[in-house]
Order: sequence, then structure tokens, then C-alpha cells
Amino acid sequence: MALGDLPGKKKIIIRKGGGPSNKPSKNGSIVSYIISTLLIFIIISTLYSFISDSFGKKLEQIPISELATDIKSGLVKVIVVKGDTLDIEYKAGEKKTSKKEGEEALIQTLVNYSVPKDQLAQIKIEIKNESGLGYWLLNLSPIIFPILFIAVFIWFITRQVKGAGMQALTFGQSKARMIDPNDKNQRVTFKDVAGCKEAKEELLEIVDFLRNPKKFLDIGARIPKGILLMGAPGTGKTLLARAVAGEASVAFFSISGSEFVEMFVGVGASRVRDLFLMAKKNSPSIIFVDEIDAVGRVRGIGAGGGNDEREQTLNQILVEMDGFEPNEKVIVMAATNRPDVLDPALLRPGRFDRRVTLDLPDRKDREEILQVHSTKKPFAEDVNLVVIAERTPGFSGADLYSLMNEGAILAAREDRTKVSQFDLIRSIEKVMLGPERKSHILSKKEKEITAYHEAGHAVLASMLPYADPVHKISIIARGRALGYVFKLPLEDNKLQSKKEFLDDIAVSLGGYVTEKMLFGDLTTGPSNDLQVSTALARDMVTKYGMSDMVGPVALEGQGGKILYGRGVEEKEYSEKVGADIDAEVSRIMKEAHEKAEKIITENKPLLEAIAKRLIETETIERVEFENILIANGITPKKKLDIEHQT
Ligand code: ADP
Ligand code: MG
Ligand code: ZN
Repeated sequence: MALGDLPGKKKIIIRKGGGPSNKPSKNGSIVSYIISTLLIFIIISTLYSFISDSFGKKLEQIPISELATDIKSGLVKVIVVKGDTLDIEYKAGEKKTSKKEGEEALIQTLVNYSVPKDQLAQIKIEIKNESGLGYWLLNLSPIIFPILFIAVFIWFITRQVKGAGMQALTFGQSKARMIDPNDKNQRVTFKDVAGCKEAKEELLEIVDFLRNPKKFLDIGARIPKGILLMGAPGTGKTLLARAVAGEASVAFFSISGSEFVEMFVGVGASRVRDLFLMAKKNSPSIIFVDEIDAVGRVRGIGAGGGNDEREQTLNQILVEMDGFEPNEKVIVMAATNRPDVLDPALLRPGRFDRRVTLDLPDRKDREEILQVHSTKKPFAEDVNLVVIAERTPGFSGADLYSLMNEGAILAAREDRTKVSQFDLIRSIEKVMLGPERKSHILSKKEKEITAYHEAGHAVLASMLPYADPVHKISIIARGRALGYVFKLPLEDNKLQSKKEFLDDIAVSLGGYVTEKMLFGDLTTGPSNDLQVSTALARDMVTKYGMSDMVGPVALEGQGGKILYGRGVEEKEYSEKVGADIDAEVSRIMKEAHEKAEKIITENKPLLEAIAKRLIETETIERVEFENILIANGITPKKKLDIEHQT
């Protein structure tokens, strides 16, 4: 598809790449540019001549009669006539000026003043052209100035009004960005997307259709109009959508859900209309609506005017999707990380009926994603991406991308030309927890409390059979945390069991218990621990059916609270059940607390050893930590143990 095919006035921003630009014609702006330059020029030159003339006029002005007398006395050498101005040069070198009557010739005037002709003949009389620009401007400036001023003023005002008007006119036009299939720099293909195997397979069908629609249409197959990509942030939804367009070599129109909604009601809907129109003209093509949950939320219950706008936009999307036929070869893709809040009407057959889920990458996929992002990065010999992949469970594709990037930045900052394994390892923590805040100085007391707090977590993580083992402990502040225990599962498991949850909660309480036991006081330190563990306990009861008392019911959806959507009727259980939930949550927390207290009490020497070492070195790595465990007669967890236990 050539760019020239695009409808003329649309505001398409073509990313990079050559080709004729499709911006609105520049003629208007050039004309006004020229006019303004001219005006400025005129103003400056007028001012200049005005000023320079008034400087020149410092000469003494004498009446013509005096001039006549001076000529008669033989004092005058030259007279320069400029219109009715006379510049007189005396033989003594003096200069004066005078005025003559407009119409009459100078000679005649002087003769009338009875200057003898022979004396006149001795004077050099020069007649100068009086039509110089400066002359005219000088004479006309009293008229020109106000006119100019008014003209400039009017021009300025109209320009502003026009600008506003233009804005109002272009307002509804879709703000979509288009990626041209022929632009090699922008092109993304499936090769650039690592992992996501199932998703790619699913989308291959769409690619096939876009490449060769006839094959499908001839046999009467109905190709889905809408594909919804669902997945956590950073799992590569946007990337994958672009890859589909790249694979199929079709035009790709992308717009973000929030861009539909702007200040004025009705704009969203007209943008949708524009976007579909544009896509149809360029078919086969893909329309990609990123973050569709911004407009596609459940309709009906709403507060405030913004909701109206959203509803209209959503309606328009539905209308457009219903309106086009399969042979129009336009496919709508949309992405969201909140499929739970989407309006059911969007998901109906004939709309976004094809749904593709993108999961967080598993170990193998993480390795592949790291591989994809390691091109163009020179690695030192010790780099082992398998290890990095093992240590990054829960990382999304975007996290892995930024990990690789951070690693390269670290190496560059230390003036090395190759990225080493150590750079990458350090980047894991940076991506997970934010940069180290080495400048954050803890007081001696704070440092002690933090060390014991983290040691408490670490002891529990080592002693509880279902908790993830400790990878690293540190009391160097990071992000908002003063210290942290970095735990890693031995395996990448998708399912979590009740026993694991219970142990996790106990580990979270480790800091709280230790502070209370050792210092007889509490700080605000464990507040986040308490929040996280209580939320987990609540989820166990209300989502996963892990409470015997409440039983196997899911009382809350995956999405949790929704303000605008259906969330208003969020509470789907009785007061009694509500009280039961609270009772269960506090029972779980209490039991975890008791368990934590017991283990800390029984392992005081280990706790002391870890805390002392932390105060000394601030960071303990896995190997050293395991040595401390062994020194205290505890066998570190190994993969085999877990397998044995489960
Ligand atoms: P989402 O739209 O799901 O939030 P993006 O598609 O914007 O995520 O992904 C952000 C970045 O993360 C991508 O530009 C890419 O660099 C990287 N990324 C994510 N997933 C993958 C993947 N599967 N393979 C390669 N890179 C990925
Ligand atoms: Mg995205
Ligand atoms: Zn803690």
C-alpha cells in the first residue's frame, strides 16, 4: 500500500521512515509567515528612517529670507534641494537647512528675494530625487503607523481564532498512528517475540488470512473480526499485535483506549468512525486498540459525565465492528490487562470473540526473551543466561528487557566494553526492588532493628518446609524498603498450595515477631509485611476456597474492587458470611503468628548469627547464608527435599 492512498486530510503520524508526509498542507502557514516577516521588516525600516532622519535634523533651520541674505553676502557654497527641504553648505563649512515653498522653483524664489543672478550662478545647486523609501515613509508614517498597528493586531487575532477553529475541525479525526508495512525499521515479526508459543500459533491463522484472504473467503470461512489479547502488563501484548501486522505485511493502525476519550463529548465516537474508515481504505489492515479497558468497561452504572463519553465511544466501536463485512479484510485487535472489567457486549460472538492469553514467561521462555534482547550487546565469557532466567521467576518480558538494559548501563558506567554476569545479577535486584539507596544512612539502632527484622524473615524461610529458600539478605535500603530478604522458589511452579500460602504468611510475620520479642517494642517497619500477609490470608478465604469454615466458594472475582463498572455491587455475600471471613482471616494470621513465634524462639542462636553478620557486612549472599545454616546444624533446602515433601 502506498502512502499516497491515504485520505488527504487525515492526521496520520507516520513513524520514522521515508515517503511523502501526509501532514496538512503547509501553504497557509507559509503565506502568513511571509506576511509577518514583511510586516516586521516594514516596521523596522520605518522606525529606522524615522530615527535616522530625526538625527539628521539636528541642523539649524533658517528662514528662506536669511538664506537669501547669506547668498547675497557670498557665504553659501552648495544648496541641495530635496523636495522643499534645502540643505545648505556654507563656505565656512557650516551646514544649515531651510524650507522653500512647495510649488515654486528655488531659483525663482531666490530671485524674488532679489538675489542677483550672477551670485546665484556661483552656488552649486543640486536637485535630489525626493522619492526615496525613507522619504516616503517619513512623510507617510503618521498614517502608516496606526494602519500597520491595526493590521497587525487584526492579523494576530484572526490567527488565534483560526487556530482554535482548525482545532475544532480536526478534533474528531482519529489520532491513530500508522505503521507502514514497508518500513523495515519499524517492522516487528514473530521472531522478535520470544516464548508466547500458543499465542503465536493462534495468531498465525490471522496472519494467514491477512496474507491470503481469498483462500478463506472462497471456501466461505468466517474469519474473526476481533481478537482480544489479555495478559499482565509487560507480557508483550503490544509487541505481539505489531508482530502480526509485520508478519502479514499489512498496515497497522494503533490507538490507545485513553486517546479516544477527551474533553468533549462525542469526540471519542467520531474518532472511532475515522479510524475504521481509514483502516478500510487501507485494507487489508489491522486496527489495534491498546488498553481497551479505558473505554470498554462495563456500561450502565456510572458516576460523572466521563462515563457518558466512554459509553458512546464503546457503542461506536461495537457499531463499527458489526458494520463491516468479512470481505473488508480489516481485523481489530485489542489489548487489556483487565479482561474482568470489560463489557460483555465486547466479548460477544462477532466482536472480540477470539481471545488470546499471554502468560508471564516460564523459565524456558525467559531464557529466550533474554536471548532476543541480548543481540547487539557484547557479553563477557562468564555470562550464563540460563542462570539469569532461573533467578527471575515472575518477571515479565518488559522486566527482562529492562534487566538486560540495566546490565548494559552498569557495564558502560564502569567503562567496560562487555556486559558480565555480575552486571546482570545486580540488575535483577535493581529491576525487582528499585535502585539501592546507599546514601540512606540508618542510625545504629535502626540498623540493628532492621538486621534482626530481616534475620527473622530469613530464619522462618529456612525452617518452614514450604517456604521459598533465601537467596540473599540485605539491609541496604532499596526503593521504599529498608532491607529485604530475597527468596526464590526452587522451581517455577504455576500452582500454589495452601501449605505454601500458610508458610508464606508466617515468613512475612517473621520481622514483626522478632522485633516484638527482642526489642519489646514495634516499629512501623513491618507494616507492609502485615498488609501483604493479611491480603494473602483474605484471598485464601474468599478466592481460593482454602478455609474449611467458609468453604469452597469464591466470594470475590479476580478483579477485586471496581469503581465504575460492576464493582458497585461488589459485596456478593451476607453480613454473616462477611463476619465469618473476618474471623477466618484473623484465625489464619494468629496461627501464623504463633508458628513464627515458636520457630524464632527455638532458633535464637541462628537468628543472632544472621543478624550479627548482617550488621557487619549488610549483605549476605546465598552461599554464605547456607554456611551459616550448616554451622547451626541446619541442612539448607535442596530441590530434592521439596520433591520429597510434596
Ligand atoms: P504489554 O503491551 O503487554 O504491556 P509490551 O508489548 O509493550 O507489553 O512489551 C514491552 C516490551 O517488553 C517490549 O517492547 C519488548 O521489548 C519486551 N517484551 C515483552 N514480551 C516479550 C517477548 N515475549 N519477547 C521479547 N520481548 C518482549
Ligand atoms: Mg502495551
Ligand atoms: Zn519485613
